[in-house]
Amino acid sequence: MEFAVGASVLIAVFGLAIGSFLNVVAYRVPLGLSVVSPPSACPGCHNEIEARDNVPLLSWMVLRGKCRHCAEPISARYPVVEAITGVLFVAVALVFLPGVLSAATVPAAVAGALALVAFLYLAAITVALSAIDIDVHKLPNKIVLPSYLVGAVLLGAAALVGGDLEALGRTAAGAGILVAFYLILAIVKPGGMGIGDVKLAGVLGLYLGFLGWEQLIVGAMGAFLVGGIFGVAVLIARRGKGGRMIPFGPWMFAGAWIGIFAGEQITGAYLTAVGLS
Ligand SMILES: [Zn+2]
Repeated sequence: MEFAVGASVLIAVFGLAIGSFLNVVAYRVPLGLSVVSPPSACPGCHNEIEARDNVPLLSWMVLRGKCRHCAEPISARYPVVEAITGVLFVAVALVFLPGVLSAATVPAAVAGALALVAFLYLAAITVALSAIDIDVHKLPNKIVLPSYLVGAVLLGAAALVGGDLEALGRTAAGAGILVAFYLILAIVKPGGMGIGDVKLAGVLGLYLGFLGWEQLIVGAMGAFLVGGIFGVAVLIARRGKGGRMIPFGPWMFAGAWIGIFAGEQITGAYLTAVGLS
């Protein structure tokens, strides 16, 4: 128990630090800038951000959301992105870490650890790509395409090391099925889905397929459910007056995480409700 608490705190801190980096990624990648250099600077006074002012969450609170030098406001989005990343990392660890710690064999532990790293990576691109999609309505290839490689290598290795060939097959099938599904939607209803959504769908298909068919179905449908509910809520709030189109990427991620965390339970409840199990 004490170990679990310690591990959670450690992963939360790790998530906050990654979240701080994702703020840089979300700001610079759409502009075509390097994410490693130059160091971050205040857009107001161009002073480099010092290490003590770059501590996730805490610096923003200590500085009360203002630059130390010129008092230029620092968007609350920075600590929010850091906090969301920290929470998502802890949630992933709660799902995947127990299996690693209680693994009966070394290969099982290695397979679990590979899956844990893969899903932490998914958490990171969830935050970065959602922020970018909300900002500029794009899911940059620079992040989406390498994610196929990262996901396929980590999840493929996890399935192989764990001796789970079915998971390996589902991982590949999941990517193919979701790409095909989104491609059909993009062709049937142009203007709804973008090609960026089609490409992201394959990455999510890898992850959901790796976990199971239930997760794949719930993860894919979840996007339309939460996106649809939000869309209707916005329509009501604006009383039918249109407005800014909401990009679909963040809903795809939201649906995927519902599938990851609760896909099995939701399918089980559904089958019971309709009397099939
Ligand atoms: Zn400044």
